Amino acid sequence: MKPSVLVTGGAGYIGSHACKALDAAGYTPVAYDSLVFGHRWAVQWGPLVVGDLADTALIRKTIRDHNIGACIHFAAFTYVGESVTDPRKYFRNNVVNTLGLMDSLVEAGVKRMVFSSTCATYGDPEYMPLDETHRQHPVNPYGESKLMVERMLHWYGRAYGLGWTALRYFNASGADPEGRIGEEHDPETHLIPLVLQTALGERSHIGIFGTDYPTADGTAVRDYIHVDDLADAHVLALRHLERGGESQAFNLGTGTGHSVRAVIEAAERVTGQTVPVQLAPRREGDPAVLVAEPKRAREVLGWQPKHTDLDGIVATAWNWHQLMAEFRRLPFGKAVA
Ligand code: UDP
Repeated sequence: MKPSVLVTGGAGYIGSHACKALDAAGYTPVAYDSLVFGHRWAVQWGPLVVGDLADTALIRKTIRDHNIGACIHFAAFTYVGESVTDPRKYFRNNVVNTLGLMDSLVEAGVKRMVFSSTCATYGDPEYMPLDETHRQHPVNPYGESKLMVERMLHWYGRAYGLGWTALRYFNASGADPEGRIGEEHDPETHLIPLVLQTALGERSHIGIFGTDYPTADGTAVRDYIHVDDLADAHVLALRHLERGGESQAFNLGTGTGHSVRAVIEAAERVTGQTVPVQLAPRREGDPAVLVAEPKRAREVLGWQPKHTDLDGIVATAWNWHQLMAEFRRLPFGKAVA
């Protein structure tokens, strides 16, 4: 029988790609998702349990019913701006409800947890590229909530023998190259989907948030990592724990940065469209450059991103956004999406 893995947030963007990767690696992914932000259509590689992260009774039942041996925990609120104006929502869901999940796992004897963390736990960078030993000093409640869980994992590991990895994502991007799943957020705040929706004519322009950064072209630089590469890292992190590997954090990025303007130019090449831009002030809390040092994930997990070309990453996203645009034009498309 295939081992079952509980995937909270399994109907979300990164979670659904992780389910696909788990299935390919011989696991049964059991998606647990409230469907508040997740999509039923994104769950294609295993069963779906519809439930809230706060519902520990249902989490415990799911662990029993599906003979869960490990958990990959994605379910969380992820809007940085909202976390500043409504921090309690973030601490309640991302921290308190995660504590309930961790207790349920420990009580059921589940000893492995792969946690979806973020480079936002570092805060304002002191040097570049960022390695895992960089000081963690988040500058918003979202990053703080993720760091708090990392600390909880550390102490649960020591006290209760919970093996864990915290995967600190840089900028998740792209979509399933076969067009089965992809990014669909409401509201959408991320650069690549917004640029592509502009290319589709669904938005009039893309705002460039800041043109006076100390970078080559004045716009902010980020490390865009393909969602399938992120998904593969989760499987490798799980195998690492199965081997009895040390509980630790890993940066997941390519190690190469691209500016906002470079992303827009890539989108223009891929789509063949001109993308109208509007210059805007910096977005509060956005550092000039965020690029990963991914050496630890390479050396310890054997992880190597396959999608290293920005145009290639944007092309998978473009394929997906075109499909979604077509779907939204269908009579019931909007309601289902
Ligand atoms: N950005 C932008 N215009 C937008 C959205 C984002 O210029 O409409 C910039 C943002 O300031 C950042 C980069 O694009 O420098 C990536 O932003 P995103 O929200 O995709 O990811 P983040 O790095 O904030 O997690």
